[in-house]
Amino acid sequence: MDKDKGVYAIVQFSETESIQSALSCVEHKMKGLKVRVKPREKKEFKLIPKKKNDPQNLQQVLNRLTPELCQQASVDAQMKYIVERFQLGENEKKARSLLVQLLQEVFVEFFPDSQILPFGSSVNTFGIHSCDLDLFLDLENTKVFQAQAKSSTEQAVEGVPDDGRSEDSILSDIDLSTASPAELLDLVATILIRCVPSVHKVHAVSTARLPVVKFHHRELNLQGDITLNNRLGVRNTRFLQLCSGVEERLRPLVYTIRYWAKQKQLAGNPSGAGPLLNNYALTLLIIFYLQNCDPPVLPTVDQLKDMACEEEECEIEGWNCTFPSQPIAVQPSKNTQDLSSLLSDFFSFYAKFDFASSVISLREGHALPIVNFLSQAKEDETMQEENPTKAHPHRPKLGPLNLLDPFELSHNVAGNLNERALRSFQKECQEAEKYCRSLQYQHKSTKGKPWGLLRLFTPHVDVQHNKPEQLTIDIPFKATSLPEVLRDEPHVAGDAFRLPWFQKVCSSVEVVLKTVLKCHVDAPKEGLCREDAAVDAEDMETTSASISASLNDSTESVESQNEATPSSAAVVGAKRPLSSGSDSSVSPHGKKPRLAKRRRPQIPPWTCVQKHVVWAGRRKVRRELVKDADCKPEGSCVELESQVTAYIAEKEPELREPLEFKVQLLMVGGTESTRALLKLEPSSDKAGVFQDFFHFLEGFLPKMVETVLQKEGRQA
Ligand code: ATP
Ligand code: MG
Repeated sequence: MDKDKGVYAIVQFSETESIQSALSCVEHKMKGLKVRVKPREKKEFKLIPKKKNDPQNLQQVLNRLTPELCQQASVDAQMKYIVERFQLGENEKKARSLLVQLLQEVFVEFFPDSQILPFGSSVNTFGIHSCDLDLFLDLENTKVFQAQAKSSTEQAVEGVPDDGRSEDSILSDIDLSTASPAELLDLVATILIRCVPSVHKVHAVSTARLPVVKFHHRELNLQGDITLNNRLGVRNTRFLQLCSGVEERLRPLVYTIRYWAKQKQLAGNPSGAGPLLNNYALTLLIIFYLQNCDPPVLPTVDQLKDMACEEEECEIEGWNCTFPSQPIAVQPSKNTQDLSSLLSDFFSFYAKFDFASSVISLREGHALPIVNFLSQAKEDETMQEENPTKAHPHRPKLGPLNLLDPFELSHNVAGNLNERALRSFQKECQEAEKYCRSLQYQHKSTKGKPWGLLRLFTPHVDVQHNKPEQLTIDIPFKATSLPEVLRDEPHVAGDAFRLPWFQKVCSSVEVVLKTVLKCHVDAPKEGLCREDAAVDAEDMETTSASISASLNDSTESVESQNEATPSSAAVVGAKRPLSSGSDSSVSPHGKKPRLAKRRRPQIPPWTCVQKHVVWAGRRKVRRELVKDADCKPEGSCVELESQVTAYIAEKEPELREPLEFKVQLLMVGGTESTRALLKLEPSSDKAGVFQDFFHFLEGFLPKMVETVLQKEGRQA
């Protein structure tokens, strides 16, 4: 039924004949009114995914900004212009607050005393025109209401009349104190679908770190997220508001750096979770830098705590969230740098920052040595082994960039970032730092040429952009995955063991993709083959030639290999990478096996299809399935991981278009570096999820393959 105007409905029949008979009826009537019935028009909808971060699109937006930015008198003026140009207008804020009001009115009908609170960029003073609307539905008071109502109904035994079982009986269908987050989310989704005009594309994502209901508001063209347990999110939004109020240079810096990061494709993950920074994490990096200026531009979170009065004390989920409610309580900074120099110093600060050894703490305002956290993690591990049933303290998930939330100190807000994303961030900071030292940054061009911020904003052009990406995953050779009797001998046996190992890896990868991740895998039956390496010059880095070299005693092929890719020289190392032991075992009488020169062991490419977002929210599902999931780290149990996938496939909507990709497996490397190399390439990725899936596989697949190999080893 069309919910907005109620003028049409679409009826689906299970039998084709029923359609015929409905259509052949001359006149249809409903409650005395004529109803016009016609066959459903089938229109071919062509879904063209919007490429928000397409460099061309980014360039167009920048082109529109260029004349105005060029005209400004200084970089400071340019930065203030960026704020003016992107910030939410008064009307937009009003529209958002009306929607919040409407949602509040609807939700309170179903959940008495509930409250809906906006947080995130709509209200943190850093919002831009297209930013999403983050909402927290607080049901604490409703729980109290329900508990009271329950005890009073138990006293008055009179039943509720059945005709009242419309929407407003929803609350009587569910016990808020015992309902699971997934049940609550479904309920919220149902209310949105049924009762809020213009709201569509509603779906619950119960496996995210913070379960959320996503929706879209048609008229406002607005993406909304409703979370149910996010008091910390509301509080950290208040913190960002406070920082903005205390230091007026913060907003121009944040808007400029957020825009720069977007242009360079360092921030913003197209499908939610992904390997890049999000805007919250980026803003925290800016605040941390300002705490570290000399003199500091912003106080540390600990210092803010000390500036608060008693009424402002606040604790959420055991974390201290105290800070003053008004900017006036915070002394102004003694730092007098202008915006332009603060911006260039931001780039210098992170261009040189030692991410590998630091954990960034806004609470203390300086970087903490990572070794402290590593030793804690070690301690946890030992405690876990000694006493698996005891609850252990939560520690931040360490990664390439460790940025502690200012309040929830066990949470690394950049925990999703991968090495590559961090490297790009630091590289772009270094480039920006260099540019900021140039005259073009500091001085307005008298000839109307781009100057100042403009050159900073040139979109990052991905060299891979026009050709389909091909990404690789390494699975290193491990003697432990060989049957026990053979483990001590791989050096002696050389290829005689490596090839069977490679075949085992191939079949384990197939098991992981098919059984564990429920991909459809079309694997040609031919099995292992050898392909002429010379055909494809681009693949020269795959040092498989070294394997044939070892079998052929062909120094020539290895030398040409080293020339092709200097980086592989270290991998290939010696001219005869598989030691003489290998030769002696393969051809004890010095005879060369008759294999063609420079051929690599590989299997014909597989075609795979994935229909579900099986990579998102696995940790959460694993935790739900096994109460003490800490005992089973990711990738350590085939059955559990298969269950996790099955759970996600059942609960989450299918991808709007399945992801199709090709997998090619090759064996590469010499004695010290034999490994299986998986090349993945998307063949159809209309939902734009390949990057996310690959990012997940990079970590998951090698661990899982190892588990499968071990399991098979045990069974053998
Ligand atoms: P935008 O929506 O414009 O990208 P935002 O500031 O609203 O920017 P979101 O990613 O939508 O950022 O996040 C909204 C809020 O959710 C943040 O203000 C913060 O309170 C919380 N949040 C987001 N990411 C994290 C995270 N990684 N860890 C902890 N809290 C987060
Ligand atoms: Mg947001």
